[in-house]
Amino acid sequence: MAYIITALCVDCKDTACADVCPVECIYEAKGPDSGVPNQLFIHPDECIDCTNCEPACPWKAIFEEDEVPALFSSAIELNKSIADDIGNYSVAKVIKGHSPTAEQVEDNFKKHGYSAN
Ligand code: SF4
Ligand code: SF4
Repeated sequence: MAYIITALCVDCKDTACADVCPVECIYEAKGPDSGVPNQLFIHPDECIDCTNCEPACPWKAIFEEDEVPALFSSAIELNKSIADDIGNYSVAKVIKGHSPTAEQVEDNFKKHGYSAN
């Protein structure tokens, strides 16, 4: 079991999750032409289920694997797929982004057709 980053991270990527991960198992694709969405990914074999990242994500994009909403189920395989292609990923560098407002988080939910309720 591992934690999963969903499409709610796409184009947000503020790396608050990477900042609190004790084992540096949150990765980003190398280069802009990687062919994967512009988001971060959790290595399925390196994640120790510490739970730190889920509440740290201001965009509410991270879920424990069993709790991933059906809308984002493809994210499970997407996160797991990096294990077989790790040469094309590097540990995410922490950058200091601005935290979104509650309205921006809701707008991002809507953009993806998601409702947390
Ligand atoms: S904190 Fe959330 S939105 Fe930010 S990079 Fe991590 S998963 Fe993506
Ligand atoms: S649950 Fe812990 S170990 Fe796993 S990705 Fe999140 S912060 Fe890292």
